[in-house]
Amino acid sequence: MNCLFCKIIAGEIPSTKVYEDELVLAFRDIAPQAPTHILVIPKTHIPSVDGITAENSAVVAHIFEVIPQIAAAEKLTNGYRVVSNCGADAGQTVQHLHFHILGGRELTLQMA
Ligand code: AMP
Repeated sequence: MNCLFCKIIAGEIPSTKVYEDELVLAFRDIAPQAPTHILVIPKTHIPSVDGITAENSAVVAHIFEVIPQIAAAEKLTNGYRVVSNCGADAGQTVQHLHFHILGGRELTLQMA
């Protein structure tokens, strides 16, 4: 499959890994928008939030169990933001479900 994040999972494209288990991979965003900017992705290919179903949502629950562990390891003790862009209007550029973890500075409250 011609998917950038599937290639990162396969090790065909390098990444700066911060967490990995049998279900998920987390790595540093190549163009960080905050001092800490990490992407958490399922190892199975789900195109976006729109592709989450009763059959595959367990991995999403697992991602949200892993996110606080990553935040703690990154010492984001003052808070952080979790974002998933879904579709064109949200500016999704990689069609493999991913959750941004942003932190390390006070983030603006702008939603759009
Ligand atoms: P989105 O715009 O929500 O689809 O997010 C895609 C994110 O992937 C962006 O923040 C990009 O900077 C990031 N990105 C693209 N290519 C890579 C890469 N090779 N390694 C790490 N992050 C990447």
